[in-house]
Amino acid sequence: MEIILRYIDQHLLPLSLFLAASIFAVFCLKLYMQEKKRSRSVELAVSGEREFYQSFASNRQESFLLIQKSNLHILYISPNFEQMTGIRAELVCADIEVLRNIVTQKEARNIVKQLKNWDKTQELKLEFDYRSAGTHQMAHGYAWVQTDGNDECYLVVFGDNTEDYKIRSALKKELEQAYQESQAKTDFLSKMSHEIRTPMNGILGMLSLAKVHVNDPKQTSYYLERAESLSQFLLTLINDILDMSRIESGKMELEEVPFDLYGVAEKLDSMFRSTTEAKKLRWDVQMQDFDVCRVVGDELRLTQVIINFISNAVKFTPPGGAVTVTFRQMHKIDGNLHLMIRVRDTGKGIKSDFISRIFRPFEQEDASTAHHYGGSGLGMAIADNIVKLMQGEIIVESEEGKGTEFVVYVSLPIAEGDQTVPESWKDDKAADEMVDKKKAVEEFTLDGIRILLAEDNDVNAEIAMEIMEMEGASLERACDGLEAVRMFEESPVNGYDAILMDIQMPNMNGWEAAAQIRKLSRQDADIPIFAMSANAFVEDKRHSIEVGMNGHISKPVDYDEVRQRIGEALLISSGR
Ligand code: ADP
Repeated sequence: MEIILRYIDQHLLPLSLFLAASIFAVFCLKLYMQEKKRSRSVELAVSGEREFYQSFASNRQESFLLIQKSNLHILYISPNFEQMTGIRAELVCADIEVLRNIVTQKEARNIVKQLKNWDKTQELKLEFDYRSAGTHQMAHGYAWVQTDGNDECYLVVFGDNTEDYKIRSALKKELEQAYQESQAKTDFLSKMSHEIRTPMNGILGMLSLAKVHVNDPKQTSYYLERAESLSQFLLTLINDILDMSRIESGKMELEEVPFDLYGVAEKLDSMFRSTTEAKKLRWDVQMQDFDVCRVVGDELRLTQVIINFISNAVKFTPPGGAVTVTFRQMHKIDGNLHLMIRVRDTGKGIKSDFISRIFRPFEQEDASTAHHYGGSGLGMAIADNIVKLMQGEIIVESEEGKGTEFVVYVSLPIAEGDQTVPESWKDDKAADEMVDKKKAVEEFTLDGIRILLAEDNDVNAEIAMEIMEMEGASLERACDGLEAVRMFEESPVNGYDAILMDIQMPNMNGWEAAAQIRKLSRQDADIPIFAMSANAFVEDKRHSIEVGMNGHISKPVDYDEVRQRIGEALLISSGR
């Protein structure tokens, strides 16, 4: 027994250990063989299909990779991959991580995240920016990743869609812009509707109060005055809104016609002289350094911009302050006059944080601005857009409590022909005469003035006749343009002093009628004719001048303006 035990101890134990080790080794070998067989079967399958892949790849713009899922070993990589990315296939095969080099770190993290979250039921579509070997720039690429039927490999198709992406991005941008514009329009419309309703509400309210107090003349006249000033505000607002909407729809076009800068300065001077005087403001219009004065451009729009600045300067400057307008010739380069127009006031100034917002529509410094000073916040936006259309720029400088200056820089072609600086700005005597004439205009009344009124609307005609006759004028009415021409033709020479002409009338409109009157061969065919029309666009005003009228008065009619315009025409322009 002892011999047996010793025998076992000496021979069988090592044998059993050897057997156990052998079994384990066989098991490991089998496992290894199985795995090797599996991967070889994939490789064999791939090498069997290599030709197919090769010919498939050669016909395609896209490149593709076949990656073994278990170890991310590259089984196939199409030859054009290197062309697209500049990375050699051997490098990718040696270490798949080199693929990270073709995208940014952020993009790589994003791709890894999407791969992790991929449920593999459908192909995964990736889009990314990558470094293109062709252009040496960032290009846009896409990849589709899918698993084969046995879930052993990933097939990655990689392509470049930079051009397509550019088009898509441009379209997306356009869409976003269109959306923003439409949003801005909606905002503008709702803001506008609110802005219009507010004074409208006030007007209706004042009128109903006036009706209730009709037996109390003092109260009634107070309410009517309020209704009148609200109507005036509403009118300005509507004009501004129309201008703004034309600017926003790109419909505002600038005229290129020769005009005289001294003429602009004179108009502004006479327009604001009495207002500034009434508000006890020092007022001055200066022309500096000019040796040419006629330029080519849009006089009305340029004037509109300066009027906006002056109106604000007058509005925001308390009595005792000063408003100065300066026109200065800066340089003459290549037939263009570089011009500076500055409106400076000593008013309340603008808070520095508001200056950056001042040109946005409907912006006012704060809620109390509208309450104290009125206004809608559109004037600056319109001015800014007009100056931009003129390729010019506006500089604003302001100090709270000290004052503000708006400076416009524009360059306009110098007009051909006479550039003589007008005598009235040089010669003191002529200037004095001009001041006398302006004074005479201010004192002018319609008393004794004979007016031919062409107006098809009975209510408008009745109002016009009653108001002007109250001042001593005598009016005869024509109901359309044809009748106006006939009445003028049949009247004795100098039988009328002025003609006020509606534009939209049956049979013959006011513009045609004015043109016909100008063509008549009679001594007084140059009679002052003013359009009096609800067509209030600058283009309409311009057309009135083009057909030979002396001016264009917008409806609702301001009869002070009528008086002043007729006075100017009779006392200054015609030299009577
Ligand atoms: P509105 O004058 O109708 O309010 P604007 O667009 O012309 O609109 O001006 C916008 C705002 O800019 C004004 O409400 C005011 O707050 C400010 N502003 C413009 N001009 C001046 C000025 N000369 N002095 C002080 N504030 C000004």
